[in-house]
This record gives sequence, structure tokens and C-alpha cells, in this order.
Amino acid sequence: MDVNKYYRNIPKVDIIMEDERIKELSDDTSRDLVLECIRKVTEDIRAFISDNPEKEEEINSLTKNLINNIILQVNRLSSYKMKKVINGTGTILHTNLGRAPISIDAAERAKSIATGYSNLEFDLESGIRGSRYSHFEKIVSKITGAEAAMAVNNNAAAVLLILSSLAKDKEVIVSRGELVEIGGSFRVPDVMKQSGAKLVEVGTTNKTRLNDYEERISSETAALLKVHTSNYRIVGFTESVSIEELSDLGRKYNLPVIEDIGSGVLMDLTRFGLTYEPTVQHSIRAGVDILCFSGDKLLGGPQAGIIVGKKQYIDKIKKHPLNRALRIDKFTAALLESIFHEYIDQEKASENIPVLKMMKMNNEDIRLRAEALAERLKEIKGLNISVEECFSQIGGGALPLEKMKSHAVCIKPETMSCAAFERQLRHLEVPIIGRVVNDTFLIDLRTVLEGEDQIIYDGIKSMFK
Ligand SMILES: *Cc1c(COP(=O)(O)O)cnc(C)c1O
Repeated sequence: MDVNKYYRNIPKVDIIMEDERIKELSDDTSRDLVLECIRKVTEDIRAFISDNPEKEEEINSLTKNLINNIILQVNRLSSYKMKKVINGTGTILHTNLGRAPISIDAAERAKSIATGYSNLEFDLESGIRGSRYSHFEKIVSKITGAEAAMAVNNNAAAVLLILSSLAKDKEVIVSRGELVEIGGSFRVPDVMKQSGAKLVEVGTTNKTRLNDYEERISSETAALLKVHTSNYRIVGFTESVSIEELSDLGRKYNLPVIEDIGSGVLMDLTRFGLTYEPTVQHSIRAGVDILCFSGDKLLGGPQAGIIVGKKQYIDKIKKHPLNRALRIDKFTAALLESIFHEYIDQEKASENIPVLKMMKMNNEDIRLRAEALAERLKEIKGLNISVEECFSQIGGGALPLEKMKSHAVCIKPETMSCAAFERQLRHLEVPIIGRVVNDTFLIDLRTVLEGEDQIIYDGIKSMFK
């Protein structure tokens, strides 16, 4: 066998560059990238020939598909890696899928701020330097009743900054039942250590009483901390101290009381048929001094850690050098202003904030949508389609026990395994992420946003052409 013939059949680089499709690709992307891919693909073929000189058919096929493979390689390297995906998992705050989606209106406002200059830190009244928090501070105060407000990159950063500002080298008293770990290596004791505050644990895992805190107060104490057990529940023989009692204790000893409330709930969630989750307003009324919460959990906004409370403390936190490293950018400032604007009217908020809209969705409406999508998918040959009741979750480490009745389109492919089907769905132009249960692919319609039903149909249809 003349192996050299195989090598000779591989066109030279400059010949490949003359191919019309390659020329076009080079114009659309980058000549250097195309050249790099040509070298890579041709080298791979040479290596294959050298390792498998007897596989004539495969060698010929690789050579024949040379141009296609180069195009594929270039497209792979030049395409965007971060993509819009469809969330069919039924988990509203899916941390891996970016937690809370933002409304189109809010995104449009952020776009107009981001694509030009803005008064991010410029006071238009006085013409001098302003504060990036000023855009939302007054509204937050109006909604929550807090004297002052600010925000940093996320809630983990908020906890770190609060403790660094108010309790470095001093003691902070926390209940043993509240030494929370949130996913992604946020552990209350570790964050406290980073801040330089000394953790003083009181009570037991299931029971902590007011005098447990009081007995440990000394001249070394800088603050009392309460952490909401967002992502787990201690049930049965339990006792914990309410934020009212803890705030009273703080006042008695002139110590600031800090609360990490986790999800920033600004309205009573029982209106959506969910379990009551402590609201920011409640804690402020109870007299807490500093409170922090996430922007992209139940609040439904951008990733942020919002800090609200008494002005004397918030001023101190704003001035701490660490705040310079944790500060929010203009996108976040613009999005926070938009989201808080919605909350001025709770009715409007539950209509306009995607996360709240999904919680509010009626199971019967979801069923009708699932039926309509299922009817259309039934046109595609090779799929076994049904609609079944399922449960959606809040996710994002909030309301861990809550299950909301919902409906899913269930797809069982006839021509391939469910695992292969799931993989192909992930590789679509707009990937469809769902749940696999009993060898069936489920798409929970609660988390499928408006207009995405069509994208699901088009995507699946393109797989069965
Ligand atoms: C989620 C959560 C955090 C971390 O918030 P991020 O915004 O994700 O950084 C901290 N504390 C509690 C109680 C939480 O629930």
C-alpha cells in the first residue's frame, strides 16, 4: 500500500485557503484562526494515517470531509460559550442556570445606561460627585422602612463586609442552630473568620434561648448575629430566638444586631400559597440594626448583596476600604433601581418580576400550556409525548420544603435512549435543560418563559428532520 498517496491527497494550506467556503469563513471570523484550524485538522489526518495506514476507508472519508471539519472547528472556537438556555427543570431560582431572570423592561433600562455614560456617581442636582447607592437608597428605605441602604456584589460579600466593618478582632455571638452552609462554599463560620470577627457559638443545634446569648455578652462582644436557615429546616423539639427578642437584647446592651436573612423577601409569600418566609420589613420593624439579603434570590433581581439598616452603621460600612473591592457596577445599580421600583406597588411587582410571576402561575394555566405544546410535539415522528402533573421548586437555597403543583411535557424518544436525547437537547442552538425521570425527559412549563414554547418546538423538530 502506498501510504504516500494518502499524504499527497491532503491539499496544501494555500490550496485550502482558496476554497470559496473557507474564504468566506476567513472573512467572517479571522484569517489567523482559520489557518490555525487548517493546520490542526490536516495534522490530525496525517497522524491518523501514520497510526492506521490500513484503514483506507476512514482515511478517505477524513480527507473528503476536510473542509467540513475545518469549518466545524472554526465555528466551535469562534462561537459564544455563554448562551441563553431554556429552563425546563421547574426550579425557579436555578443557581447553575443563573438564578433570577430579569424582565425585558429592566434589561432595556440597564442597556441604555450601559451603552452610554450615566450619572452613576454624579449628583445632577449639585453637579458634584454623588453616590452609586443614591439611585435606589430612598426607594429601599420607603419599601423596607430602613433608614439607609447600599449594595455589594452578593450576599456573601455583604456578610463579610458587615462583620469586617463592625466586628473585626471582636466577638460576634451566633446560635449553633444557625451556622449555615450555603452552596458554593459559603459557610458562616468561615466567612466570620475571613472578616476577622471571632465566632462565639451559643445554644445547641436544635435549641437556643435568649439567655444563651445574654450569658456570653462581655466587653469583647461587638454584635449579635442572626442567620436565616434558608436552605434547611430544624423541626421537632426546637426553639430559637426571634428577631424581636434579639433586637431588644441588643438595645439593652447597646450592641448592634445583624441579620443575614438570605433571600430578600419584600412581600408576604402566602399570597402565592407558599409558606411564610420572613420579610425584610418585618425584621426592620422588629428593630434589627443591620440586615442583608441576596439580590437574585426571591427578590428577583440581579446578583447583589443588599445591606439595609440604621444610618450610623450603614455609613460606617460604606466607608470601609473593603467596600471598594466589593462594590456593585453600573449594570447592577441600574437593575436594582428597576427592581425596587416594581416593589413600590406589590401588585405590579407580582405582574412584572419574572420570579414572582412564576411563583404566582396557576397550575391550570400551566396545564393548558403543556397540553398545547404537547399537541404540537406529537406531530414530530419518533416521540412518545404525554402531559403529567409534577412539582416545581423555588431553588436557590430558598424554601427548601416548598413544592408547587405544576405540569410537564413528558417526552420518551422511540429511536434513541433518553440519555442520548437529553445530550442532544443540551447541544441545540438554544439548549433545552429539563429533568430525566424514569427514562423520560420532563419539561416543566412553569419555568419556561413566554415565547419559549416555540423555541422548544423548533429545537426538537430540528433533531428529527
Ligand atoms: C444565599 C445565602 C447567602 C449567600 O448569598 P449570595 O447572594 O448567593 O452570595 C448567604 N446567607 C444566606 C442565609 C443565604 O440564604
